[in-house]
Order: sequence, then C-alpha cells, then structure tokens
Amino acid sequence: MSQFANYIGGQWVESDKLSRNVNPSNLDDVIGEFAQADAAQTHQAIAAARAAFPAWSQSTPQQRFDVLDRVGTVILERKAELGKLLAREEGKTLPEAIGEVGRAGQIFKFFAGETLRVGGEIVPSVRPGMTVEITREPLGVIGMITPWNFPIAIPAWKIAPALAYGNCVVIKPADLVPASTWELVRIIAEAGAPAGVINLVMGRGSVVGEILVESEGIDAISFTGSVATGRAIGAKCVQKGKKFQLEMGGKNPMVVLDDADLDVAVEACVNGSFYSTGQRCTASSRLIVTEGIHDRFVEAVKTRLSKIRVGDALDESTQIGPVVDERQLEQDERYIAIAREEGGTVFGGERVERATRGFFLAPALVTGTTPDMRINREEVFGPVASVIKVKDYNEALAVANDTEFGLSAGICTTSLKYANHFKRNVQAGMVMINTATAGVDYHVPFGGRKGSSYGPREQGSYAREFYTTVKTSYVFSGAI
Ligand code: NAD
Repeated sequence: MSQFANYIGGQWVESDKLSRNVNPSNLDDVIGEFAQADAAQTHQAIAAARAAFPAWSQSTPQQRFDVLDRVGTVILERKAELGKLLAREEGKTLPEAIGEVGRAGQIFKFFAGETLRVGGEIVPSVRPGMTVEITREPLGVIGMITPWNFPIAIPAWKIAPALAYGNCVVIKPADLVPASTWELVRIIAEAGAPAGVINLVMGRGSVVGEILVESEGIDAISFTGSVATGRAIGAKCVQKGKKFQLEMGGKNPMVVLDDADLDVAVEACVNGSFYSTGQRCTASSRLIVTEGIHDRFVEAVKTRLSKIRVGDALDESTQIGPVVDERQLEQDERYIAIAREEGGTVFGGERVERATRGFFLAPALVTGTTPDMRINREEVFGPVASVIKVKDYNEALAVANDTEFGLSAGICTTSLKYANHFKRNVQAGMVMINTATAGVDYHVPFGGRKGSSYGPREQGSYAREFYTTVKTSYVFSGAI
C-alpha cells in the first residue's frame, strides 16, 4: 500500500496516523494511505510558511512567473494521468476529471501572467508638493481549507493567485480526496517553489482546519465548503482579526420559459443538475418551469434520464459516476424520501448495482414541488433536482430569488427581453443564459451572493482583491 506524507518546509514528513483514500466506484480499490497531520505538524507548517515569507514576498515577478508557468506546463502534460487519479478518488467521470485537471493547469498559466501585471497608481495629492502612490503588497501566510468535490481545481484556484502575488501557503485538502492535492503540491515543489512557500497538511477539519483558523501565524483564510463550516470559520476569523473569504453552498435555480428551445433547455438542465453526479456547488437543483412548456419539458428530461448510464467513473461509457461516499449517498436518499413525504413525485433516485461495489445512484427528478418544501430550500449536493411549475416569467423570477443562496442562476428563453431582465434582476453572482448553471471559465470572477459567498471573488484578476493588501504612500518632494 502506497503511503503519502505531508509536505512541510520543503520536506516530506510522515505521520503515525494514516487515512485510507478509497475509490467510490470500487470500494476494493484503495488509492493509498495519507498522513493525518497532528497539531504539532500543523504548527510546524505554519512556522515554515512564516519563515519563507520575507524572501518569497520580495521575489521578482519573473521568479514567480517561472514557477507558476512550469506548474501549469507539467499539469497540462500530465492531464490524462492526473485525471485518472482524480476520477478514482472523487468519482467524476474520466472526461470530467481530465477537464478539471486541464482547468487547474490553465489557472496556473493565467496567474503566471498575472505576476507581471501587478501595477499601482500615482495620484496627484490635494496638497502642494505631495504625490500619492497606491500599491499592492502580499498579505502574508494564507491558510486554505478545501472541499472534496473539486480536488485539484479549487486548490489550484486558491494556491495560484496566492503564490503569484507573493504569499506563502498552508493548505488542508478535504480528508476524503487528498491525492490530487498531494500531486499538485509535489508538482509545485518540483517546479522550484522555495522550501516553506507551499505546505500541505492533510487531516481532519476539527484538528488541522481549526488550528489554521485560530493560529496567529496565519494572516488570512480562504475556505470553500458547506455553509455551516464556513460561517463558523468566518466568526472565528472576525474574532482573530483575520481576512477571510468563504465560498459555500447553493440552491441554484434554472428557469425554463414557454418560449425556450426545448432541446437547449433539456441539455442545460440535464447537464447542470446531474453531471458530475450533481456534486457541484453550481448545480441546478431547482428547475422553475412555466406552465405552457412544463409537461413537454418534464417528459423530455425523464426520457434523457432513463437513458443515462450511471457507473464506474473510469468506464468510457459512463455518463454519471458514483456519489462520493456512503454518508453523501445517505444524505441524497434522505432528501429524496423527504421530497416524497412532502408530496413530490420522484422519478429515478434508486441505488444501482454495478460489477464493483460502489456508491451508485440513479439521477432523481422530483416533480410537483412547491418553493416552500425542504427539497427546494436546502442543498442536497447529489444527482437530485426538483421541478417547480409557475404561471409566468414574473413568478419564475420571484421563485428563483426566494432562497437564502445566490451562487449561480440560469434561464432558458429565446426572448432577449426576458434574458436581459433576468440577468439584471436575479440575485446571484453568476448568471447563465441558455446554458447550464455549472461550468465556468477559469479567467473570470467566480463567486456568489447572499448565503453562498462572503468576501472578494475568486479567480481571474479579481482574485487580487483577496490575496493582496493595498498601501497608500504620501511622498513630499518639497519646492525647488
Ligand atoms: P465541509 O464544509 O464539510 O468541508 C470543507 C472543508 O472544511 C474540509 O476540508 C473539511 O475538513 C474542513 N472543515 C470541517 N470542519 C472544520 C472546522 N471546524 N474548522 C476548519 N475546517 C473544517 O464541505 P464538503 O462536504 O467538503 O464540501 C461540500 C460543500 O462545499 C457543499 O456545500 C458545496 O456547495 C460547497 N462547495 C462550494 C463551492 C463554491 O465555490 N461556492 C465549491 C465547491 C463546493
């Protein structure tokens, strides 16, 4: 059995405690045993990052460009192999997993370029003989806490901008899926990041995560995960005076209007709701459909779902891989049962047997639901979507906004009038017109509103808002 150590101050450091990483498509396939950091190792990692910060924060943009560009090149070269590892540990299909790895590579390439684009401003002062300069500086040591559903892309979209702007990193990946992040950290180390600039501490949120949040040695926390964990972390960061950003859950609406192109709408909804096993924070979980198209739409989606192949993530014919683990599978089933008890009609949603032991669940479509039902208010995070029938566009928009979340929202319509109105009035950080609510570009801002997100956006040049701090300098040159 292969064992994987933590990476602290440029060294691979073993631990007495190990955690098994098991393939959700095949429970007999163990990817490896991963070190579980204890409190002492976590503090060592923080100290190593602090020690590395003065030199790395003063490094030239060219040094940082070279490291990030090499990381991007290696990830892209190893896309197929890393994609297979990701599909094995998380359960998304091979094409989805290779796509995620490719995105991680592109993110490093993008932020390599960003190292050269850190400008400032010179502003005339209101006072004579004075000039004002506005510059950006690195924040310090960033603690990163990531979820299990994007094991390489989310670590990449946090680490790349952090390093690009001269910060040092201590990252704790989700305990379920440490292998992809472990490979990413190895690539960064081998690409020439000096010792201590990147540190990996795998382990429990309640041990490693808590220390990152509490430690005086960590200047800022970037977190992606559930609302409950995120809010608790945010409250502690406020107490400690740390900068923080939270990316959390969603209950993303997809509106389908009578004038929609039915094929486009079905494609957008099946993809957005069920691909990646519905385990995307941007998944469309509420399908809000006007009454003129409702019955045709529901029939067409059911026809598509009845043909969808659920199975082993590595099997070429698979369209939807397994649920990530037993706990998540039970949560999906619990919500399907709740939807039934609330009066919804469930199509699909049963466990599926395959050649290997795995967590296979047929996608579930719940029809006949109303906005107040729990299935329409709480995040399920599985291949489960519900349909809400509405009278017209105005009711659809009101239902779309009737949620505590605000990550992504979509509309399928051939009307420019409705598309534009929706884009302007839906309460979400990202809006999709005639395309799935999930699936975003790597070079533009990502994030939401309301209960979904807190703090500056991730990705693209907007990531600079979180990973730098602004300094305003006054220079008095006097009169000649
Ligand atoms: P989670 O909140 O259970 O865990 C996320 C991370 O927090 C893990 O690394 C975990 O170990 C750590 N953690 C747990 N308790 C902690 C504590 N007390 N202190 C510090 N760290 C702690 O979430 P999950 O189940 O891994 O991921 C699924 C959730 O992530 C869903 O709600 C999903 O919507 C959300 N998500 C959001 C986005 C986004 O960008 N908005 C992207 C992906 C996933």
